[in-house]
Amino acid sequence: MNLEDLIMAHEIPIRLSFFFGIFAVMAVWEVLAPRRRLSVSRAVRWGNNLALVFLNSFILRLLFPAAAVGMALFAREEGWGLLNYFAVPEAVALMATVIAMDLVIYLQHVMVHAVPLLWRLHRVHHADPDFDVTTGARFHPLEIILSMLIKFATILVLGPPVVGVVIFEVLLNVTAMFNHANVRLPEQLDRVLRLFVVTPDMHRVHHSVEDDEANSNFGFNLPWWDRLLGTYRDQPRAGHQAMTIGIHRFRTPREVSWLPAMLWLPFKGRITAYAINRRQWGESDEP
Ligand SMILES: [Zn+2]
Ligand SMILES: [Zn+2]
Repeated sequence: MNLEDLIMAHEIPIRLSFFFGIFAVMAVWEVLAPRRRLSVSRAVRWGNNLALVFLNSFILRLLFPAAAVGMALFAREEGWGLLNYFAVPEAVALMATVIAMDLVIYLQHVMVHAVPLLWRLHRVHHADPDFDVTTGARFHPLEIILSMLIKFATILVLGPPVVGVVIFEVLLNVTAMFNHANVRLPEQLDRVLRLFVVTPDMHRVHHSVEDDEANSNFGFNLPWWDRLLGTYRDQPRAGHQAMTIGIHRFRTPREVSWLPAMLWLPFKGRITAYAINRRQWGESDEP
């Protein structure tokens, strides 16, 4: 049995064991040594954030039963996509898949901050007044659907190996839970680690209420895009303890912490609010 057969035969158990395994590790770590105090009780946060995660999984299965793996199989059968067209060694194809799909996720993340209509969807992720392992999967169903469509398009152009798609998705799931966790890594370790993966301290900057900080550190998995493309920011101005997490406009638990309110959040207010390309600069960061 080759690697692909093995992974395809056990795809669901592989995905679930990574999800629950890393979730459990990060959750215990958060309880034992939290980085910040939560402003909303863990019961409310987890109940509602996880309910949204399950709703999203349900919607995705309903709309796209074959999911990204199905699209990769389709592309291979049709011979579509760069990696199906050109003969590339397996290891190179796998690495290219993870790196290219991660770059697309980064660009998509910049896009949902830049386009006002899309920011309304993405602000559900940012409206969380705290930052913990459940924040990592807290996205509006419409943003989840948009992500899946962009992933499909990427797969059609890239023609990635099926195993590469599964590796990428499991990796993203794991790193998103890791780098949203409310935990503290020793400073030295964080410095080394963030050369290879986005760490909690690196991504926490992105959840700052301050516009310029929220428009930094868009990476979810590989940290290189932010450094290469100029969106990297080392630490939050106020420090990790004192910084405010969330968005300016919606801050009460009634507006941001309960599932029905989260689902309604994109439809509140006029489309004039904050977006990356329309903000008023308070003070310039330019030298
Ligand atoms: Zn964001
Ligand atoms: Zn985030």
